[in-house]
Amino acid sequence: MKLIVCKFGGSSLADGNNISRVADILRADPARRFAVVSAPGKRFSNDIKVTDLLYECYRSAAQTGSCAASFSAIRRRFTSIVEELGITSFDIEAVLDETEREIGLKKSADFTASRGEYLNARIIAAKLGWEFVDAKDVIFFKENGAFDEEKSYPLIAERLSSCQNAVIPGFYGTDAHGNIKTFSRGGSDISGSIVARAVNAELYENWTDVSGFLACDPRIVNNPEKIEVISFKELRELSYMGANVLHADSIFPVRKGDIPIKIKNTFRPEDAGTLILPSKKYKKHGKTVTGIAGKKDFTVLYLEKSMMNSEIGFARKVLSILEQDGISFEHMPSGIDTLSLVIESKYLTDGVLDRLIGQISEAVHPDYIRVLENIALVATVGHGMAASVGTSARLFKALSDAGINVRMIDQGSSELNIIVGIDNDDYEKCLRAVYYEFFLKGKRKKAEAE
Ligand code: ASP
Repeated sequence: MKLIVCKFGGSSLADGNNISRVADILRADPARRFAVVSAPGKRFSNDIKVTDLLYECYRSAAQTGSCAASFSAIRRRFTSIVEELGITSFDIEAVLDETEREIGLKKSADFTASRGEYLNARIIAAKLGWEFVDAKDVIFFKENGAFDEEKSYPLIAERLSSCQNAVIPGFYGTDAHGNIKTFSRGGSDISGSIVARAVNAELYENWTDVSGFLACDPRIVNNPEKIEVISFKELRELSYMGANVLHADSIFPVRKGDIPIKIKNTFRPEDAGTLILPSKKYKKHGKTVTGIAGKKDFTVLYLEKSMMNSEIGFARKVLSILEQDGISFEHMPSGIDTLSLVIESKYLTDGVLDRLIGQISEAVHPDYIRVLENIALVATVGHGMAASVGTSARLFKALSDAGINVRMIDQGSSELNIIVGIDNDDYEKCLRAVYYEFFLKGKRKKAEAE
């Protein structure tokens, strides 16, 4: 039988009403056997997420030895959820008393923060009459803090093989010393992906408060198209550049297992959402460009040295300086006698840039070093680009028509992505120009012809 693992985010579970909606979604398809849940999120725009209340609670317990005052807001959130849902089989006050006591005893930020998911999962399991499976018993981390897949996958598979349905709290597991440890913020997406992989689900449904990915940032482009289908590779390029719906690390477990992800909107379940497919299952959908994304505030270090191509070890020496200084670079476009390093400007403050230039000059004696600051990167992404002749011509013509000076180009080797470096000030104009070229121009022409 088909098996779907669903993950619901905090806004989908913010109060009893939303949790009832989630219960309806889960019951609507018997293939939805396992649900991974976040802590209750915001109910309105200036509300506070339960996870943030818990971190606050941890801080006050650390400072004053008691979290009684800050725990009361958490208590109210959960008791009102239980009341709204009309759950009587569950003594929420007793569970909250125990939680407050444990927070005081354990004195751990991760343990405290994890209680939002723990309590919500217990309540949702009670509402559905499903089994509660604690993430602490099945998700493990290694000594170095990385997720322990060898240990966790068999345990999850084994534990869930005996359940028809289960609710599993997201965001946390157990570290190598038996203590509760959380993923980074938004990490329930990762937990959901891990569970989907462990049980070899057909599909990982990620339910949130938007109807999927958009082809461009809606704060910059008016009403951008929805992306219906996207490959993992395209998503990786776009989300690295700032298109954030899923936690960036959440794609790896399902991607390795060739399991598709579907982004769905809890508040508009009828919307198609975005389907994220592994390369094997991805079919061309006729679009040249799937999406456009970008980020501001990069610095480009441009190095020139004649005969660089025949100087063995040039790039290694430059990169080992970055490594020693603990600086990661984003891109490294190169020519015969040139090498550029694109680095996020935030890593180069407080004299770091000058030190880096000094170290590079000393190590490789370039003829010329130039620094370009306040650079934005814009990525135009799509598998369709490789097959359509003239895509880059269209892109660069669109930029020149918009009067945008291209400071750097990087196509990578995948033919999936063309990245341009432009001045920060041209960023918004650049996104609009590229979006117009690939998403609107054809439609306008067609409409005019009709
Ligand atoms: N509740 C956690 C957070 O707010 C984890 C999650 O929701 O995914 O970051």
